[in-house]
Amino acid sequence: MYRVRAKSKWTVMVWIVVILGCVFIFCEYVVYFPVILQCSWPEMAEKRDPLRALFLSDPHLLGAIRGHWFDKLRREWQMERSFQTALFLLRPEMVFILGDVFDEGKWSSTKDWEDDVRRFKQIFYHSSNTELVVLIGNHDIGFHHEMTSYKLERFEKIFNMTSAKILTKRGVNFLLVNSVALHGDHCPICQSVEDKLYSFAQQLNCSTQSDATRNHCRDMQTHASTPPIILQHYPLYRTSDAECTGEDAAPLNERYQLFQERYDVLSQDASKKLLWWFQPRLILSGHTHSSCEVFHENRFLEISVPSFSWRNHNNPSFILGTFSTSDFALSKCFLPEESSIIAVYCSSAVVTVLIILVHLRPFQGALHIVNSLLGKKKSL
Ligand SMILES: [Zn+2]
Ligand SMILES: [Zn+2]
Repeated sequence: MYRVRAKSKWTVMVWIVVILGCVFIFCEYVVYFPVILQCSWPEMAEKRDPLRALFLSDPHLLGAIRGHWFDKLRREWQMERSFQTALFLLRPEMVFILGDVFDEGKWSSTKDWEDDVRRFKQIFYHSSNTELVVLIGNHDIGFHHEMTSYKLERFEKIFNMTSAKILTKRGVNFLLVNSVALHGDHCPICQSVEDKLYSFAQQLNCSTQSDATRNHCRDMQTHASTPPIILQHYPLYRTSDAECTGEDAAPLNERYQLFQERYDVLSQDASKKLLWWFQPRLILSGHTHSSCEVFHENRFLEISVPSFSWRNHNNPSFILGTFSTSDFALSKCFLPEESSIIAVYCSSAVVTVLIILVHLRPFQGALHIVNSLLGKKKSL
């Protein structure tokens, strides 16, 4: 009789371990598949050979000073599984990270920087079929007053991008901008970025048919004759997020707070310059950690891409973009919600405790001792 009871206890324990194992595998690996499988590449009217690019922002890999080890482990694992599952299921040709890759790049020591870069390469590992482009954010090199040539150089060494660059893929021009350097105070770094942007603007204008025949265009480098898509960390100037809508827009208590120029958003001057010089067909930016769609001057669409990390958003997301030389289409792909994963873990913990109480009766021994003691007392 005792053997049969012991055997059934073991069976229950094995079942508990199996169920908890399944919950763990589901929450840490499997859940990313059904969630990301709901996303698909947006369709354009023109279907011939579109360029497919994925945009994410503000992963904020925690550093050595502020990062708690569990926070780091949990959130970095979430980003790694999200990114790797998205690459596997969606197979983008290009991935753009719109800055704030690191949380403490602005003050990390050489050793901590190297450790952050090692983890970055592991989380955002990709095959040679996908091109990864990383833009500068204020947390990578500091705000304008903290930005130094040393920090820029170490960023450039890893990501090959520090000031401004035109990247052309199948006739689609992406203008990559170090928006931290668009402070407008003519500091040497800012001036060199501005000079570069001005010369790119001239080259792009000369590359369009209307300007190509002009004299000053003769020796100019040419690009695909289509307005660029601007990619940068800071959003263009807007007064606040009051007009932003959607489930991942800023929370209501933050939405009406006025933005500070050169801190939350670019200055009005720098924003006007970018729009005037490039007449972009789209702008994608990060930094606010929340989603927003803005039409500047009623015609230039800017998308604020929310943070990719659970640390900044319960429901992170990324943007899928399909591009041709004359058209584009965008869609948003949401990742699993952190609160749902915590709810699954909590419910399975409650169920496990109930099973233990009902089937294994862990206090049975204690009850038996109490009962026998009471019995002895009575007999006295
Ligand atoms: Zn950020
Ligand atoms: Zn930022």
